[in-house]
Amino acid sequence: MERTLSIIKPDGVGHGLIGEVIRRFEKNGIKIIAMKMVHLSLDDARKFYAVHKERPFFNSLTAFMTSGPIVPMILEGENVIEKNRTLMGATNYKDAAEGTIRRNFATDIEKNIVHGSDAPETAAIEIKFFFNELEICERG
Ligand code: GDP
Repeated sequence: MERTLSIIKPDGVGHGLIGEVIRRFEKNGIKIIAMKMVHLSLDDARKFYAVHKERPFFNSLTAFMTSGPIVPMILEGENVIEKNRTLMGATNYKDAAEGTIRRNFATDIEKNIVHGSDAPETAAIEIKFFFNELEICERG
C-alpha cells in the first residue's frame, strides 16, 4: 500500500470541483484516509513549494495557492502515486491526456486544479506538512 498527498487547488474549489475530483478518486478504487479544507498563508505556501523557489513562476504560484481555500487529502492504494498522477494529467493541461482532470478542467499551466506528490519521498514530506497522525484514518 502506498500513500500520496493530493490537493484540490483554489481554482478547483472555486469552480465547484471538489465532488468531481473526489468522485474520480473513489471510482478508481483510491481511498481517502484524511481530508481538510485550509487557506494557506503566503509563508506556508512558500514553504510547501520551496523546491520551486528558484523558478520564475514561484511568486505567481504561491500567490495563486493562497488566493482561496484548498482541500488537501491523503490518498491510499496500490501504486497510488502514479495512479493519481495519471488521473491528474500533465502539468500543462494542453499536453494532458483526454479525460484527465487537468485536461477537462484546467484553464492555465498554473491554474491546473490539482496537486499530486511525484515520489514516495515527497509524498511523505507533503503528507506531514498538512496532517498529523491523529488526522489519518486507517480504513483497512
Ligand atoms: P506538477 O507536479 O504537475 O504539479 O508540476 P510541477 O511540480 O512542475 O509544478 C508545480 C506547479 O507549479 C504546477 O502544478 C503548476 O501549478 C505550476 N507551474 C508549473 N510550471 C509552470 C509554469 O511554467 N508557469 C506557471 N505560471 N506555473 C507553473
